[in-house]
Amino acid sequence: MQISESKRLFAHAKNFIPGGVNSPVRAFRAVGGEPIFIKKADGAFLHDEDGNAYIELINSWGPMILGHNHPIIKEAVIQAMEDGTSFGAPTAREVEIAELIVSMVPSVEKVRMVNSGTEATMSAIRVARGYTGRDKFIKMEGHYHGHGDSFLIAAGSGAITMGHPDSPGVTEGTAKDTLLAPYNDLQAIENLVVANEGEIAALILEPVPGNMGLCLPSPGYLQGLRDICTREGIVLIFDEVMTGFRLARGGAQELFGVIPDMTTLGKIIGGGMPVGAYGGKKEIMEFVSPAGPVYQAGTLSGNPIAMAAGLTMLKYLNTHPEVYTRLEEIGIQIASGIASINEKLGLDFTINQVGSMYSLFFTDEDVIDFESAKTSDTSLFGKYFQAMLRRGVYLAPSQYETLFLSTALTDELIGRILQAHEESMKEILI
Ligand code: PLP
Repeated sequence: MQISESKRLFAHAKNFIPGGVNSPVRAFRAVGGEPIFIKKADGAFLHDEDGNAYIELINSWGPMILGHNHPIIKEAVIQAMEDGTSFGAPTAREVEIAELIVSMVPSVEKVRMVNSGTEATMSAIRVARGYTGRDKFIKMEGHYHGHGDSFLIAAGSGAITMGHPDSPGVTEGTAKDTLLAPYNDLQAIENLVVANEGEIAALILEPVPGNMGLCLPSPGYLQGLRDICTREGIVLIFDEVMTGFRLARGGAQELFGVIPDMTTLGKIIGGGMPVGAYGGKKEIMEFVSPAGPVYQAGTLSGNPIAMAAGLTMLKYLNTHPEVYTRLEEIGIQIASGIASINEKLGLDFTINQVGSMYSLFFTDEDVIDFESAKTSDTSLFGKYFQAMLRRGVYLAPSQYETLFLSTALTDELIGRILQAHEESMKEILI
């Protein structure tokens, strides 16, 4: 495979952009090699600057659930462009998308649009703090909620250990209000609640985490969190930036039947444009300015072009339930195909899948939390990633990511993915 133009662009980019990229994981540091520069995308394919085509299994890290350059989204954006790119004033389209989100996501009675998932989670925590009058919040080890200071906290050494900053620039003062717990461990939450009686504003988690590779909630776990939060007056926040509108129209909360107090959204909600949102119970959202005292604002929030793309995407998903049936089929076909190839080759690697999300972990342990995810052989994953790339399949460039499938994947393409998997495994292991 020839990638000389990508190599040239990367070398040039490093002169002007830190690390040559605008988001770290794009630099391929976790898998070795150099990043591929993308020129365009269409349906199930990415096309690079050297003319290579790749079957897409990330889909812009989640948003492109219908595949790239979908005609209805493209048309909506072009039409909206005719009327101007930004007004900084209310629009009818914002009201329409808010009403639609409220009808689709069970926990959301009122919603505020922002420009990214990071803004959504930062704002949700601020609102939860304003609402409860408490400062601390609980997050799970290995869960990612964007790059807001208080979320960039490494795993502590025990359930009641205070957090320490993960990144220079995050102060100890900020970190001390973030409490850490392992995922899928209700007792750890009970311990934190006892140790911080009456001080915890919120518990935020990815109900189905994708940022340590994909893990699933143990039976009863999400309901257990719901019960503790209700009992303790803690605002339960589901970060559904990845899972919202993906695992079901109403996200993981619909799929698992557990309703949080607040929800953060991103990715699919913008149809590929920069959009995030946070919402929840009326009484909590009434704390948001100008209805209430908690300040949050944005020059480009509710941008008319972004709203046109998002509204078109959500309307489509809301009226086409067959999308979710098909995505489930695709997810099962790929995950079970990989599992049976691995079995045939005598390999015992763990694969986690739900709907259109899956992760293949290079470990034989069950992966249920951050500790078990870390048993994966990441250098072997790097070799697998490169072997798949050479065969024209573009995976997320890190073991600790989930893959996101789209409806653009045909049976023929799934066959090609599985063939690439078999060849790659043979190449790197046998
Ligand atoms: N929350 C979750 C669960 C995410 O996966 C991400 C990004 O991947 C974010 C928040 C941050 O979203 P953004 O990258 O749009 O700021």
